[in-house]
Amino acid sequence: MGSLKKLETQEVKFGPNKSYFRRDMNNDGCIKVMASRSALLELVPETKKENLDVELPIFDPSKGTVVDLAVVGGGPAGLAVAQRVSQAGLSVCSIDPSPTLIWPNNYGVWVDEFEAMDLLDCLDTTWSGTVVYIDDQKKKHLDRPYGRVNRKQLKSKMLLKCISNGVKFHQAKGY
Ligand SMILES: Cc1cc2nc3c(=O)[nH]c(=O)nc-3n(C[C@H](O)[C@H](O)[C@H](O)COP(=O)(O)OP(=O)(O)OC[C@H]3O[C@@H](n4cnc5c(N)ncnc54)[C@H](O)[C@@H]3O)c2cc1C
Repeated sequence: MGSLKKLETQEVKFGPNKSYFRRDMNNDGCIKVMASRSALLELVPETKKENLDVELPIFDPSKGTVVDLAVVGGGPAGLAVAQRVSQAGLSVCSIDPSPTLIWPNNYGVWVDEFEAMDLLDCLDTTWSGTVVYIDDQKKKHLDRPYGRVNRKQLKSKMLLKCISNGVKFHQAKGY
């Protein structure tokens, strides 16, 4: 039994300070992950820089064109604003230092929320329910499907909608 328990516990060392996560497999097959505070602070997502193959309509600042809205930051929030405002007929310029770079973060989302935004085609995996661990004793099952976002597909879809609404892109940092 002792050796079995050993097999079920795994320590993962990482980062410059060799912080660690401990993963324990419970009897019910659930994995419990424990991490020190410093381990969480060191947790930086591995980023492979990849750009989308999309030709963006470029905003030319030398022309002195005035737009209704300039959105600084082309993350999910900025692109969503650019998309919605341009859809309403206003002229929009999206400003970001790397407008075609695929976002580095992994997003997990509620499936019903993505469905309401017509983004179901941007999920690459879905789960039928979720479990929330409150402490060692308490867990709560939520009967609400959860999904993992396909970042490339999401950014492509949002960019293409912006482009078709006439959004112009300025590759720069706003100060
Ligand atoms: C590792 C990790 C995992 C996550 N997992 C989830 C998850 O599972 N589910 C979830 O809902 N959320 C998750 N989040 C949170 C999620 O990433 C953020 O809520 C979301 O990215 C915020 O979107 P945003 O557009 O506001 O900002 P950001 O995504 O930070 O985008 C900001 C954009 O602005 C640009 N920018 C920055 N400064 C300037 C400037 N001066 N001028 C011009 N452009 C600028 C950046 O280049 C970037 O493109 C996670 C975050 C991290 C770090």
